Amino acid sequence: MQVLVAEDDPVSRRLLEAHLGRWGYRAVAASDGDQAWDLLQQPDAPRLAILDWMMPGLSGPELCRRVRSLGREPYTYLLLLTARAHKEDLIEGMEAGADDYVTKPFDAQELNVRLRAGRRILELQAELVTAREALREQATRDGLTRLWNRSSILEILARELAKSERDGSAVGLIMADLDHFKQINDTHGHLAGDAVLREAARRLQTSLRSYDSVGRYGGEEFLVVVPGSTHSSALQLAERLRLAVNREPVRLTDRSIEVTISLGVAVSAPGALIFPETLIRAADEALYRAKTVGRNRIEWLAPGRLAVESPQLVETLV
Ligand code: GH3
Ligand code: MG
Ligand code: MG
Ligand code: MG
Repeated sequence: MQVLVAEDDPVSRRLLEAHLGRWGYRAVAASDGDQAWDLLQQPDAPRLAILDWMMPGLSGPELCRRVRSLGREPYTYLLLLTARAHKEDLIEGMEAGADDYVTKPFDAQELNVRLRAGRRILELQAELVTAREALREQATRDGLTRLWNRSSILEILARELAKSERDGSAVGLIMADLDHFKQINDTHGHLAGDAVLREAARRLQTSLRSYDSVGRYGGEEFLVVVPGSTHSSALQLAERLRLAVNREPVRLTDRSIEVTISLGVAVSAPGALIFPETLIRAADEALYRAKTVGRNRIEWLAPGRLAVESPQLVETLV
C-alpha cells in the first residue's frame, strides 16, 4: 500500500520512509506542501498520507482542507505529524479534516499502529462503497437481463425529454416486443425462455450507441431511448435492432431457437414539450400496428403527428 510522506525536513522524511518500508508500505515522498497537493490529486494517489504541519507551500492543515473539499472517493486517510502539541493545535488539525494526529518526535511503534487503524478505516470504507454500488445496481437494473429496469428507463426518458426541450433536439423512443414469446415458453420451457430473453436483451444492448439507453419495460418488452434523434435515424436504429435480434437463432446447449421482435418508433418534435407518457403511447400504438400487420417489423408514428403538450396545460398541472 502506498503512503504519502509530506515532510520538508530531509532527515525526518528519510526516517519515515525507512520505517514505512519496514512495515510493508511503499512510501511516496513530497518535500513541500505544493508537491504533496499535486500527488494527492492524481487519480492513483496514495490513500494514506502522513502530513507534516509546517512546510513550504501548503501547510498540513491546508492540505487536509483541500483534500476534504475535493470530497473524493475512495477516501483519503490523513494523519498530521507535528511538533505542535497543544490541545488547540490538535483541534485545529482535526477540524481541518485530519483523521489522526501524531506529535514529533514520533514513537515508531505508535505511528505504526495508528497507520494500521487508518488502513482498517480505509478497508471498511471500501466495503461500504462496494455494498452501496451493489445496492444501486440492484435498484436500477433488471435482474434477468441486466438492462435498466422499468423505473430507471422511464427516468432516463423523462430526463432526455427535458434536456431536448432545453437544447432544441429530439428524442426517439422505440418500444420493442418479442414475437410469440409465449409460444417459445410453451415449446421450450420457461428456462429456455429466460435464456432467449437474456440473449435478445444482449443483442439489443450491443447494437446501441453509448448514449442510447435500453431498459426492460415489462416481461418481453423493451424501451430504447435515443437522444439527439431524427425520425430517419430512429427508424434506422430500430431496423438495426430488429436485424440484431433476428440475425441468427439463439443457441442453447441442446437446441436453437428462432426469435423475432416487433418495434414501434416515435420521435418527439425538436425542442417540443412532450410528456414521457405521450411518447410511450405513440410508440406503443406503432408497436401494436407492427404486431397486427405481421410481426418481425417496425412501424412508426408519422413525424409531426405527435401531440405537443400545450404550455397552458402544463401550467395547470404543476
Ligand atoms: P406477441 O407476438 O403478440 O407479443 O405474442 P407473445 O406471445 O410474445 O405475447 P404475450 O403477451 O401473449 O406473451 C408474453 C409472454 O412472455 C407471456 C409470459 O409468460 C412471457 N414472459 C414474460 N416475462 C417472462 C420472463 O421473465 N421469462 C419468461 N421465460 N417468460 C416471460
Ligand atoms: Mg516541517
Ligand atoms: Mg410478445
Ligand atoms: Mg408483450
